[in-house]
Amino acid sequence: MLVDLKDGSCRSCNGQLEITVVDDATMSVVCLECSDNYDVESDAFGDGCMKYFFPLMAQRDGIGFTGE
Ligand SMILES: [Zn+2]
Repeated sequence: MLVDLKDGSCRSCNGQLEITVVDDATMSVVCLECSDNYDVESDAFGDGCMKYFFPLMAQRDGIGFTGE
């Protein structure tokens, strides 16, 4: 899942990030510009986990995301 640039960007070059893996408390991101990759916290993008982490966790677990 791509990270909206207004929510967050690469710590190295400010390029666009893509979330590649979600774990129970972290997400792995990769930069589309410089290929830097690192882990961030579940609410690293200031969205309270609602926009990225929870939907990705639901997707990973194969359950529908209800928004609750
Ligand atoms: Zn970068």
